[in-house]
Amino acid sequence: MDAGPFTDQELLAYLDESLSVELMSQVEESLRHSDSLRVRLAQLSRQRDHGAHSVGEIWRRNHLSCPSRSQLGGYLLETLTPEFHSHIEFHLHQTGCRYCAANLEDLQAGLSAASTDKERRRQKYFQSSAGYLSAKKADR
Ligand SMILES: [Zn+2]
Repeated sequence: MDAGPFTDQELLAYLDESLSVELMSQVEESLRHSDSLRVRLAQLSRQRDHGAHSVGEIWRRNHLSCPSRSQLGGYLLETLTPEFHSHIEFHLHQTGCRYCAANLEDLQAGLSAASTDKERRRQKYFQSSAGYLSAKKADR
């Protein structure tokens, strides 16, 4: 078996885990059977580390419409203009951009961790103020 039908770009995206699930598993499957593909991937990976290929650059070339991370954050917090909000919504749901979906998931996890913290602090506050109220006379 030869190096498979994959382009350098696809293999780089594979390294970056930004391929579609389907393509990811195709590449993985081919890697299992093809020494030459493994060699090619290793070469690409080295070249990439040396800056010959910048995945971000390649990605930007192909995904010019990707919102930035802070724009995605604004999308989550609903602080964007309605036009921009629906632009991002379209990008996420119609183009099914995995890169942005992963970014969004990451941001969402950060946000919900933050709100869990806030919730915990609030509970603590209520508990301690309840404690404070009942102990108020003794304290003062
Ligand atoms: Zn995107």
